Amino acid sequence: AAKAAGGGCCRVFTGAMRERAVRRLTVENDLRRALEHGELRVHYQPVVALRDGHRTGFEALVRWDHPHRGLLLPGQFLDVAEECGLVTAIDAAVLDEALGFLVRHPGTRVAVNTSARRLDGTFATAVARGLRQRALSPSRLSVELLETSLVSGDAVTERELRDLARLGVPVLLDDFGTGYSALSYLRRLPVTGLKLDRSFVADLPDDPGSDRIAAAVVGLAGSFGLSSVCEGVETAAQAEHLAAQGWESAQGFHFGVPAPEERWFPRAAAGAGGGLARVPA
Ligand code: C2E
Ligand code: MG
Ligand code: MG
Ligand code: MG
Repeated sequence: AAKAAGGGCCRVFTGAMRERAVRRLTVENDLRRALEHGELRVHYQPVVALRDGHRTGFEALVRWDHPHRGLLLPGQFLDVAEECGLVTAIDAAVLDEALGFLVRHPGTRVAVNTSARRLDGTFATAVARGLRQRALSPSRLSVELLETSLVSGDAVTERELRDLARLGVPVLLDDFGTGYSALSYLRRLPVTGLKLDRSFVADLPDDPGSDRIAAAVVGLAGSFGLSSVCEGVETAAQAEHLAAQGWESAQGFHFGVPAPEERWFPRAAAGAGGGLARVPA
């Protein structure tokens, strides 16, 4: 009986693995087509100053307007894009679109997310070129990197960060607190801000553990002279709590959901809202 059950286990496991491989291949092929056909979009979520609630900029978040499956979120395709390397093409296309957004809206700023894979030694140069071609001030763009991108201590990554710093592009550590937190890189690397992961915001203001972590991270930001942003703020009570702790900026459904450009700049609809164009490598 044990043997039979074991066999059953193996078959189930193999089935799951097969399913995963098939999904990977399907999504990968679909994604290649999506990039060529402009099915990827960018939604913009407002970032506000907690002091007075005024909008200081936006975060650019990729979406996939799938012809059969509807609007897909990054959680439904980015893992595959990471695995097969297409994420660098996606990031390049999002950056290109975000720079266009800055040109169309001179009073604002935008943050883009960047996969660690994109920090391959050509990223800072591509950013510099994109900004120069459009005569944009580097401080209007910022780059968000997962904290985990830095743990390998890779020399190329470090050089990219130094080049971005020299250029004047702020670098934020995204989902801060969820990675493997070797704080030593804060001493070494020219990051300019911390972005508290939304899992620490979700149970505020009542959960004492979340409260202490949020307070510790904003303290850390303060002592390193870094900017502080928290994500996932869904209620006024959370916003007030974080403002009282000294957080500078926030994002979340309480202030605004990620939405197409026309939502935030209704009169600028002409020329906006189209799919992302693939950027030659
Ligand atoms: P992230 O950079 O931490 O972005 C914040 C995520 O939280 C977004 O999910 C956003 O829609 C969601 N969010 C914002 N406010 C709230 C809130 O109040 N409550 C809750 N529950 N969620 C909120 P999204 O758009 O699904 O993106 C997920 C992740 O995918 C991003 O997390 C980022 O790591 C990654 N990502 C998004 N766009 C890109 C991209 O262009 N390139 C790369 N490499 N990664 C991207
Ligand atoms: Mg982000
Ligand atoms: Mg984040
Ligand atoms: Mg996050």
